[in-house]
Parts: sequence; C-alpha cells; structure tokens
Amino acid sequence: METYDALLAAISSAPGTGRTILDPATGAAVGEAPVHGVADLEAAITAAAAAQPAWAALGHDARSAVLLKAADAVERSAEELAQLLSREQGKPLNGPNARFEVGACAAWLRAAAGTPLAPETLVDDGETRADLHYRPIGVVGAIGPWNWPMMITTWQVAPALRMGNTVVVKPSEYTPLSVLALAKVLNEELPEGLLTVVSGGRDVGEALASHQSIGKVMFTGSTATGKAIIRSSADTVKRLTLELGGNDAGIVLPGTDPRAIAQDLFWGAFINTGQTCAALKRLYVHDSIYDAVCEALTDVAKAMPMGNGLDENNVLGPLQNKAQYDVVANLVEAARASGARVLLGGNPDSSRPGYFYPATLVADIDNGNPLVAEEQFGPALPIIRYGSIDEAVEMANDLDVGLGASVWSSDPAAARAVAARLEAGTVWINRHGAVDPRIPFGGAKQSGYGLEFGAEGLKALGVPQVING
Ligand code: NAD
Repeated sequence: METYDALLAAISSAPGTGRTILDPATGAAVGEAPVHGVADLEAAITAAAAAQPAWAALGHDARSAVLLKAADAVERSAEELAQLLSREQGKPLNGPNARFEVGACAAWLRAAAGTPLAPETLVDDGETRADLHYRPIGVVGAIGPWNWPMMITTWQVAPALRMGNTVVVKPSEYTPLSVLALAKVLNEELPEGLLTVVSGGRDVGEALASHQSIGKVMFTGSTATGKAIIRSSADTVKRLTLELGGNDAGIVLPGTDPRAIAQDLFWGAFINTGQTCAALKRLYVHDSIYDAVCEALTDVAKAMPMGNGLDENNVLGPLQNKAQYDVVANLVEAARASGARVLLGGNPDSSRPGYFYPATLVADIDNGNPLVAEEQFGPALPIIRYGSIDEAVEMANDLDVGLGASVWSSDPAAARAVAARLEAGTVWINRHGAVDPRIPFGGAKQSGYGLEFGAEGLKALGVPQVING
C-alpha cells in the first residue's frame, strides 16, 4: 500500500512535459499525464512480444496464481485508486461509482483467474479423436473509453493475461491517469513487459489497431470508432472484440407496481450519472401505469444527491467532459422545444463550476425524438407511453444498436416472453445493466460483436486449435 500522492507521482510525467488533467467537478488540476506517441507504442509492443512466450509457457494455473496476487494488490491500493478515479472521471466515491468500480477490478481479476477452461473433446468414436484447445494469441491491444476506465481495462486485460497473452493498453485521452494507476498497481505483481500503458491519442489507437505484431484488439468505445478499428485492422486480419455504443430500452409491462421498481429503474438509468454503455436510456411504460411510474421515478430521482465525488454524501457526479455535457444539454433542450414535458431537472445551474447536469426525466415524448433515438450518454431519461406490447417491442427494436434491454413485470413468464422478442445482447428482467463476471456480455446489431466474461470471454482471447488424429 502507498499513499495517494505516491501513486500519483509514480505515474505522472515530469512537470511541464505532460498534459494537465482537470477534475470535471471543479476544474482543478488532478495531475500531469504523460503524452506518449507511436514510438512509445513500438517500444511497448516490442517488450510485450519479448515477454509473451515465457508467460504463455507458465500454463493456466501459474498465470491464474499471478492474477490472484494482482487482485490482492488492487485491494491493497483500493482507496487510493478510487480517489484518483473520482477526481479524474468525476464519479463519486460512494454509490455504484468509484469504490464500486475498483472493487469490480478485483472481482473480475479473480473471475478470470478462477474460470475453468479445459480442452473440449469434440469427437472420440474409436476412429477419430478431435480435441479443441485455445492457444495464446500473442500481443493483445486494448483500447478503452472514459466512463469506466479501470473496470473496462480490467475486463480487457484480465482474460488476455489469463490466456497467455501480453497486453498493450491505449486508454482514453480523458482518463489516462486512472488506467496508468491501475496498471502501476497490477504491475506490482505481474512479470515485466506483460502490461504496458501507452498514454496517447487517436494516432496511437490507429497505430495499435493496424500493427502487424498485434494479434487481437479488445475495443470498448463508440460505434463510429469501432467501425474505424474494423477498417484499420483489416489488412492484418486481426481478431476483434467490439463493445460499442448502445441505447438500451426498458419496457414496463401493465400490472407492475411502480413503487416496487422505481429505485432499480433509477439506478438502471442513472448509474455513473448515465455515462454507462448498458444503462437504460429509453423507458417504455404502459398507458395504464404511465403516470404512476413517472411519479415514483421522480420521487426517487429528486432524493439523489449530486456533487463533488469526494464528498461522501454524493451518489451522482458531473459529466466527465464538456463535449458530453453539451450533447446532453442540447438533446434535452430540443426535446423541451418539441413539446415534451420535463418532469425533473433540465435546468443546469450555470453559475456552478464543473460539468454538472441535473438528473432529468422527460415525459410525453415521441419515439422519434433525438433524445430517444440518439445515445445521449448522460443523466437524462425519456419516458415513452405505449398501448400494446407489440407497439412497445417494435419501438424498442427500432434502432440499429442493441447492447442491453430490460423488461419490468411482476409476472416472470410474461417478462420472459417479451424478453425473447428484444434485439439485444442481454435482456435483464426487473433490473438493468447488472453485469456479472460469470455471465457472457456482448452486443447485438451495431453494438458490436464478441463476448466478454465467463468461459466464452476467455475463449475470445485465444486462438482455437483443433488437434485431429
Ligand atoms: P470513443 O470511441 O470516442 O473512444 C474510445 C477510445 O478509442 C479512446 O481511447 C480513443 O482514443 C480511441 N480512438 C479514437 N479514435 C480511434 C481510432 N480511429 N482508432 C483507434 N482508436 C481510436 O468512445 P468514448 O467517447 O471514450 O466512450 C463512449 C462510448 O463508448 C459510448 O458510445 C459508449 O456506449 C461506449 N461504451 C461501450 C461499452 C460496451 O461495453 N459496449 C462500454 C463503455 C462504453
């Protein structure tokens, strides 16, 4: 364990040589991130390629033992990591936010270490014996976003290492310190060269995605960037796992008790102040309970404190950056101008420092309104009225993305029947966005392809090899 200042100093660039990262809650400097370029990327890939054969040769059990020690290291430095994450990303320490995210890093490392993956015997009939193995890929590139920087890096790095690969990480330009700090802590236990962070911009991301020596890219970010990565990786026929944008629908069935689901609906939509890929972004409510659901959600939302993440009382924070703040503010204003009814929020306090946008609920809004149809990625939830289940399913499936979805009902059979009709990688029932390291997660449609977590997630970080004889 070390102090917050020691951790920050260990990852910061020399004064005057880096890029100053500002706290989105206050505008105060958090630290100086190193500015790495393509030459640093080359050095990281060379080191990763050199370290990979010995790491692969250790075998699953020895690699898993190292990952468990890395999880212990995260727990030893959990509070320092959470403090830095809160300052840089903006998310509060409490609620399902910074401490929760650091806890998830340890949990996913342990899960990657503990998930069994034995070779599968496909055929053994006396004449043919065919076994399916998963061999290491080599060097894996990991490119991540700014909303859950530590957790998503762990989702990419932990299974890659478990499967005998080494990893070069390109964090978001908005949250490099969080990822550098996480890697610094993991590297207290990992052999040298296995995990390197290259704190660069889009040019470094592009170079990583097209590099001859990178066998696979794990990418989490927007659909537009995912498409660019498909193009950059084409010439080297790289394997890809793409976790892209979403715009998740939730459907509340008739007969559901609004007060019983309001708290879970709120967190399904507002976790990380709405800056979550698999958050509930469009809520479809049956006409018979529409007003009651709006009222119950408003009561829950207005009781949630928003403010500086370091204040232990807060559970909602600022938007991470000005661009995202503008997206949310513009979409809500356009919705209001179109005649939609703002039930709560929608009037940011411009005298306050930081990118704070209040928790906002918007009712009586059309399905085609941009606040519904576009991924706003912030603390605003449009609530759309529907008359028949067919109409709700059609509206939910109307977009070209399909990461998650949810159905809310006191009748599990009815909920499962509707869930089966939704075009999304995961459909939750009476919850939304609950990821679990044992359960595969991935998108449908333009929300991406490839699965993370569980045995399926490990297989995605290996090259399938059949031995047939
Ligand atoms: P982004 O696509 O703008 O950036 C993500 C990363 O890609 C950054 O590190 C960036 O530097 C890099 N990058 C940008 N252009 C690149 C290029 N041409 N080649 C290679 N790398 C490049 O995404 P963001 O704004 O940081 O994150 C928000 C988005 O991520 C949202 O759409 C959200 O839904 C999505 N997201 C998805 C998941 C998921 O699991 N599906 C999880 C979190 C976030």
